[in-house]
Parts: sequence; C-alpha cells; structure tokens
Amino acid sequence: MIETNPSKEWHQQSPEEVIALLRSSESGLTAEEAAKRLSEGGVNELTEGKRISAGLIFLRQFKSLVIWILIVAGAVVGMLGETVEAVAILVIVVLNAVIGFYQEYGAEKSIAALKLMTAPKATVRRGNETLSIAASDVVAGDLIALVAGDVVASDARLIKAASLKCAEAALTGESEVVTKQIEALQEKEVPLGERTNLVFMGTGVASGTGLAVVVATGMKTELGRIAEMLEGAAGNEATPLQKRLASLGRVLIVAALGIVAVMCGLGFLRGMPVFELTMTSVSLAVAAVPEGLPAVVTVALALGVRRMSRRHALVRKLAAVETLGSTSVICTDKTGTLTVGEMTVRALFVDGKSYSVTGEGYGPTGEVLIDGQKTGAVDSAPLLELGMVLVACNDAQLDDREGTWITLGDPTEGALLVAGAKAGANREKIESEYERHHEIPFDSDRKRSAVVRSMPGGGLRAFVNGAPDILLKHCTQIYTAAGVRSLTDADRKMIETENAAMAKRALRVIGSAYHDLDHAPADELTVQVVEQELVFVGLSGMHDPPRQEAKEAVAKCVSAGIRVVMITGDHPQTAAAIANELGIQKSGPAVTGVELDAMGDEKLNADALNIAVYARVTAAHKLRIVRALRADGAVIAMTGDGVNDAPAIKGADIGIAMGKSGTEVTRQAADMIITDDNFATIVSAIEEGRGIYDNIRKTLQYLLSGSVGELLLMLVCVIMGLPAPLMPIHLLWINLVTDGLPALCLATDRIDPEVMKRGPRDRSENITNESFIRAMLLTGFLTAGVAFGVYLYVLNTVGVEAARTHAFATLVFAELLRSFGARSQSKPLWRVPFSSNIPLVVVLALSFSLQVWSQHGPALGGFLKTSYMPFTNCLLLLALGAIPTLVLEMNKAFRAPKE
Ligand code: ADP
Ligand code: MG
Repeated sequence: MIETNPSKEWHQQSPEEVIALLRSSESGLTAEEAAKRLSEGGVNELTEGKRISAGLIFLRQFKSLVIWILIVAGAVVGMLGETVEAVAILVIVVLNAVIGFYQEYGAEKSIAALKLMTAPKATVRRGNETLSIAASDVVAGDLIALVAGDVVASDARLIKAASLKCAEAALTGESEVVTKQIEALQEKEVPLGERTNLVFMGTGVASGTGLAVVVATGMKTELGRIAEMLEGAAGNEATPLQKRLASLGRVLIVAALGIVAVMCGLGFLRGMPVFELTMTSVSLAVAAVPEGLPAVVTVALALGVRRMSRRHALVRKLAAVETLGSTSVICTDKTGTLTVGEMTVRALFVDGKSYSVTGEGYGPTGEVLIDGQKTGAVDSAPLLELGMVLVACNDAQLDDREGTWITLGDPTEGALLVAGAKAGANREKIESEYERHHEIPFDSDRKRSAVVRSMPGGGLRAFVNGAPDILLKHCTQIYTAAGVRSLTDADRKMIETENAAMAKRALRVIGSAYHDLDHAPADELTVQVVEQELVFVGLSGMHDPPRQEAKEAVAKCVSAGIRVVMITGDHPQTAAAIANELGIQKSGPAVTGVELDAMGDEKLNADALNIAVYARVTAAHKLRIVRALRADGAVIAMTGDGVNDAPAIKGADIGIAMGKSGTEVTRQAADMIITDDNFATIVSAIEEGRGIYDNIRKTLQYLLSGSVGELLLMLVCVIMGLPAPLMPIHLLWINLVTDGLPALCLATDRIDPEVMKRGPRDRSENITNESFIRAMLLTGFLTAGVAFGVYLYVLNTVGVEAARTHAFATLVFAELLRSFGARSQSKPLWRVPFSSNIPLVVVLALSFSLQVWSQHGPALGGFLKTSYMPFTNCLLLLALGAIPTLVLEMNKAFRAPKE
C-alpha cells in the first residue's frame, strides 16, 4: 500500500514529493507495477460495476404475473387430478423461463460488450511510452496526459501544465473554468475549486495540456465521495417503447382476468361442472396473455444494437435506437465526416503569386510549380517564408507505414507540414534552432493556432496559421520579396479574392502569418498579445475530396424524407462547393456565423427549415441551430468532435460523437459514437433504427393477433355453451411454440431496405395505433372464424376430442402460415423472399412436423392431448388454415397496387 503523509495534503506537496510518495517516476509506472497495483487497489470505477449475474436473470423470469398465473393454473389443474396436464403446464413454465433467461442473458451480454467498447479512455505514460487505456485501468502513481477535450480519469496532482484550464462544474458546481498550475499550495484546508494543482475525476479539460500523477482512483476520488448522490442517475433505464409495452402487458393481463371472471360467472350460472369451468378459465387466461412479448422486445433491441456496432455505430443508450428511427434532420460536420479527411495542399499563394503543388496524400514527393513550371531562385525566398510558418506552427507527425505516409494528429496540420517541406522548409532545423516557447492550440471557435518560438538572433516570434478571413482581421502588415510593408486595402482585396477563388474550387484554405514579440514578457503570451499586428505571409489551399459513400447516403436521406444540414467552421464557398457536389443543396450560398448573429431567434426558427449549409460557425451557433430546428418539431441527430460541441450534442435528440477525431467529452455526452467518423454510418444507423422498430411492431402485431384469435374462439364457444375448443396445454403450446418461435424470427428479421423509401415515423406515434388495432382485429376474426368452423363441423360429426385436435391443428397452421405474411406491413408475402429469413422456414418445418407427430404418436400426442388424424385431413386443415393469410395478403396487394 502507498503511505501518505497525514500532515500534508496532496496539494501542499511539490510534484517531486508526490512522485516519490507514490513511487512513480518521470517515465511513469512499469507495466508490471501498474498491473500489480490494479489487482491490489481495484478498478478505477465509481461503483463496483453491477455484474450481470446469471442467477439473477433467471430469477427475474419469475417476476412476471403471467408466470404465476400459469403456476397457479397448473396447481389447480393438478389438484383436480389432471396430473399430465399439470406437469405439462409446469414443464412449459420452466421451459419458458429457460428460453426467456437465455434470450435476456444473451441480450445483457451484448449490451455489456457494447458498454465496454464505449467505455471512457485515458492516455497514460507507462515505461516511457504513451498509451491509450481504459479509464478503469488507471492506478495510483500513473502519469496521465491531458489535452483539451479530455475527461479526467481520476484525481491527480499536476506536474506539468501549459495553459491548462479545467471545467469542474460537475464536481464544484462552479461554471467558470479553473486555471491550473503546478506550484504547491500553503494552506491545508482549501476548497476543491481552489486546489489549482490538482485535477479531479469526471471533470473536463477545457483548453491547454497537462501531465499529472494519479493520487486517487475509483471510490477514493472526490467524485467517488459524492457517488452515492449520483447513483441511480445512470443505469439501464427501460426505453420508452419498453415502458409502453410493459404497461400494455399490464392492461392485457387485467383485461384477461376480467374476461375470465365474467365467463366464470356465466358458466357458474349455467351450472357448468367445476372441473370444466376451471379448465376453461385457465385456458382463457392463458389465451389472452402473450407470454413472449417482453423478451421479444429486449432481443430485438439488443440484436439490433449488435448489428449496428458491426456497421460502426456504437449506441450508448438503448432508447437512442428508437429515436434514431424517427430522426428527421441530420446536422453533420463536413471535414472528415462528409469528406475523407485526408488532405493534400494543392495551391499556395504568397507575395502576390499563385503556385500549384504536386504529389499525393502525405507523401514527401512533390513540387511547387508556377504556371506548370519548376519554381526558380526568384520564387524560393517567399516560398521558404511561407513554408517556415506552415512548419513552425504545427503539431502533426508524419509516419511512413510500409510505403504509405499517414499523419498522426490533426490532418489539416499534416497537410500543412507536407506543403511546408515541399516549399523548402526543414523541420529538424526549425525544431532545433527555433526553440518552442509557447503554444496556443487550434480551437474551432477561434479558428487559429499559434506557436511562439525564440529566434536564433534573439527575441520571440509567433507563427500563426488560421482561417484567412479571420486571420486577416488581425494583420497590419504584409510580407513581400522586397520586405515587410503595411497592408493596404488593395492587398486585402487581393488576398480575399484569392481566398474565395480557392474556396470555390472546394479547397480548404489556411492563412499564414507571424508576429515578432520583441518586448512581451513570457508569461503574458495571451491570444490578445500573440495574435495581433500580424504580418500576413500567404495562403495554402488543400484538397479534401468528398467521401464516395457520402453522396449515396445523402441520396438515401432524400428518399427517406430526412433533411441533411451541413454545419462547418470552414469557408462558406468551400462548404457550398462540397455541399453542391454531394447533393445536400442544389445551389445557393451558405449561411455564415456572422449572418446567424444578425438573425433573431424568431427569424432563425422560421428560416432553419430551408437552410442546408452553415459555414464559419462556432459551437454556440450549433446549439442555436439545434434549438431552432427543435422549435420546428424536428427530431435531430447532431454530430460533434470538439470540446465545445458537448452542449449541442446533449441538446440534440441524438448526439453523435466521432470515434476517431472526437474528444472524450463529446464521446461521453453522446447517445451514439460512430467509430469510422463516416456520414454514411449515421444513415445506416437510422436505417437500422427504423428496421428495429418495424420488427418490434410486426412481432407485436403477430403475437397480439394470435391472442385475439384464440380468445375469440374460446369466447364464442363459451357463450354458445359448447365445450371449450382448446385445453390450456394447447394454448400454451401455441403461444410458446407456434407463436413464440416465429415471433423471435420476426423480431430479428432482416431489415427491409425499403424502410429508407418512406418518411420518418412521427416521434409521438403510438406503436398500437388505429391501423394496428384494425389489422389485429381482422386477423383475429379470420383465424377464429376458420378454427370455429372446423371445430363445429368435427364436433357435430365425430366428437369433442377429435374436434379439439382439429381446431388445435387449424389454429397452429394458420399461425405458422401467417408468420410469413407478418414479415411486411405493406408487401404481400410473395414479394418478400423466404431466403432472407431461413430460421423462420426452419421453425415452420419443425412446428409442422411436431404437429403431425402429435397426431400419430402417443409420445407427444399424450402430452398435447391430441388424437389420431389421417394425414389427408392434416393437409386439408393446412389449406383451411391458409385462408386468413390469403385474405390478409390479398388485402395488402390491393391496398398497395402502385408497386
Ligand atoms: P470544420 O471541422 O467544420 O471543417 P474547423 O473548425 O476545423 O472546421 O476549421 C475552420 C477553419 O479553421 C478552417 O477552414 C481552416 O481555415 C482553419 N483551420 C482548421 N484547422 C486548422 C489548424 N489545425 N490550424 C490552423 N487553422 C486551421
Ligand atoms: Mg475540424
């Protein structure tokens, strides 16, 4: 165990003391030591993650009222001397619990696996290597690296801090960001918000960078101490659909018991023998309740989520699956999402001259040409000056991976680095001779980045890259081959024209400038000081082609009635050029952040419906756009990657974080993470969301229609004073085998690609709407009608036992056949290929065989209480059982003649 000095708090000790106390070092813990501490000290998690216990899930199966109704029914039937029936009921109860357990256990496991994939990450330094590990594996003594957008993984004492600011509202309630530093504090008692040399678990890094040594993990952190207050906030909440279905289930049970009571009374008045009365009541109760319902929904959601994860969409909340299906607007980033995000500089502009740049990707080969010719000595000085700024203000790393060059870090900066080298700048020389002094990293609200270096000849110089139009506002001078001079209006005009021309070619343009900071003291290097009175140097235009699949995905959205809105920090012309190419808009300009500022909320609410491209916006604008669209009743999916995007992501109906380029803060604010940053993935997720909803709806419809059919048949017979056509065991068999298994196949059916050819579902739509009820009743009447006809005929010609066997078989066949029709709401059965749901075909064949067996062999026959029936009768019943399906499918075919 690590001993702490009780007389001194962590914030009172120096970084060296803390490192020594925690037996860590500048290079971090070794891997072995970290593993040892993890097994001794426990995982870095707030509550001992609730394990999914198999036993608990099994017990949960007995929580439902239905099961207890069945158990009581079994007991009653047993007391009446019907041992076989009683045992059969109990066997089925157990079987049901086992199947339910198996399904739920699988679902829980796949959701747990997903949770693991989207679990928070932390960057640690161990054995002198920088690693990205699960935040739960962080141990005391680990060195954690922090950058803007990170969520701090545990409580830690800072040993390095560069412009580090943390947002600690989650812990202290204080909305101001806290500026961090590394000096020890004198006082022992210091409020959390003022312990400026510590960072705390669960808080966010707003800006800057830092390195800290972990002092406490898990429940020992400050957040852990207040964890009881947070408990219950998280957890696996039921989705709206699950809740609605649970309440529907309760209504059904109450209704069923009501009907049973009324029928019981009726039978009693008629003087029906107690035995028969009881058996009939049990049958009715069993008929009315769809046993398989809750499990089916869980399985459909869980399987859908697993399928989505294979398509690169990780859902963090089950409820998001449902919301996805009703998404009507997607607000998406441009760079890296709609475009490939691999950039290559194609054009440079410096000293009034335009150059073209050759070469592919991030590879070093390529030249800077003027009018297609090699550049000569006259051009080399200005090009070198531009190259210098591009390389000096840069954090990217290039890496040769078996012949293809890739960039580590921001791809924009990677492209600038390559272009700088092609223009003649030498990175090694710059890094060694111009010592890095200070940096203000890129921020998508400021749209600039700066690095301050000390010059070999003395003094400091700030190198600045950024969005040209914004950079130009802070420029007062311009660099030319003949020397630096004042920036004239004509110069500005020329630069703006060139910038617009590049943007029109869909190039992403970066301006470069510098500023000599002769007298500024080192600790006053704020944005205001560093990025003022700049000397403008030049422009770089980089090519970032649209993703091939994005164009198809946009087209899919159009036919699916989903609006695509591009929101970017890039230049309006660049944005418009890409948007036009992808079909997001036909023509027309983009609305800029400046224009948004001039717009009142009312005007924005009215106009938001028609705006497809927003450019040069900040994170605050994103939030306004979300609000405006929501005021119009849209269901919005919104992407984000930067620190500042978290509020907009939270504000949207579906917040989507980028898996690759996104920050931890956005990942944890999001409902869904897309691991390939690809727009097309969002569209596939919506497709899945719609499909899953369809599957649940059709399964529900199938199961409930079946119940209505059984109930009607029973009711009619009881009212007419006929013996009950079905015994409890028959109904259980139908509900669990002939209905239950196909229902499972329906719930996991392949998604119909046509879900993307109709508009989004209304969010407030009730799954059991009018058309649902109508179809359910029609189906119920048809099935009950056919079975009743058969029952009555055989009852009058042969006898009650044969009549039951026949009615039972008819119902089973009708249900099996109907399961194929249930696969599509709109398409008749012959237009949905059998091959796309093989399990259903297998279930059908199996059930049919079992039915025939029960009519011929005493083994199953005894269990199911069926008597012998010639095979020809069986075929006849199959034909009769097909009647409801035929009627329903013809109905579909005529209702939708346009296809
Ligand atoms: P988006 O991600 O929507 O394309 P960004 O906020 O990343 O928008 O970029 C906005 C603008 O900021 C870009 O058009 C570019 O001019 C500039 N820019 C982007 N990345 C960098 C960077 N790393 N350094 C300097 N300037 C940048
Ligand atoms: Mg960006």
